[in-house]
Amino acid sequence: MEKSKILVVEDEAPIQELLQFNLERQKYRIQLADSGEQALEVVGTYMPDLILLDIMLPGADGLEVCKQIKANPKTARIPVIMLTALSEEADIVTGLELGADDYVTKPFSPRVLLARVKAALRRGATKFSNDDDFVSIHGIDIDSARHKVTVNEEEITLTSTEFKVLRLMASQPGRVFTRYQIVDAVHGEDYPVTDRSVDVQIVGLRKKLGEAGRFVETVRGIGYRFKETE
Ligand code: CA
Repeated sequence: MEKSKILVVEDEAPIQELLQFNLERQKYRIQLADSGEQALEVVGTYMPDLILLDIMLPGADGLEVCKQIKANPKTARIPVIMLTALSEEADIVTGLELGADDYVTKPFSPRVLLARVKAALRRGATKFSNDDDFVSIHGIDIDSARHKVTVNEEEITLTSTEFKVLRLMASQPGRVFTRYQIVDAVHGEDYPVTDRSVDVQIVGLRKKLGEAGRFVETVRGIGYRFKETE
């Protein structure tokens, strides 16, 4: 099977080299772009399976590039992993809400980066729909048609909102959701958004999941994620 194509958008040469070295060692095929403009120029013809996108770029920054990629129907489905500084929390949240799939903070370990790349490619390859009838992960079975959740075969009772939050997150394990994205998915865009209301849902959900509540992870300053692996 041909290895996936990755578009790497990064203006700093040492980081570019580090990314290229590690990705090529895993046999991924790479296209490099030094700027946002260049990335936007090649993305439609190269059609990568994944984009690694630095946020701090000269000219059109990573957020602008992400916005344009997600606004174009041809490229909207390509998963984007942002490369950011840890201090850029607000940018990370904005990027996720613009449709980026994940982020990795600099300085990153190649091992972590490659794991994220693999996970994003896997999610990208799986046709995901929020209406999927059945989600099963870490002993948690979510049956949408029957509105039923079992943890290690034991049924638990969730509110409608808790159910939707769990289904949203568990159907895309490893993906970080901002609070806004969770509210949006659960209630639709018109629902009044408060960070607190999401946090309350998560607390309730974790409690009802019992031991399995540990799979619902807090991502500090960003939002929540359903753990992908044990
Ligand atoms: Ca940069």
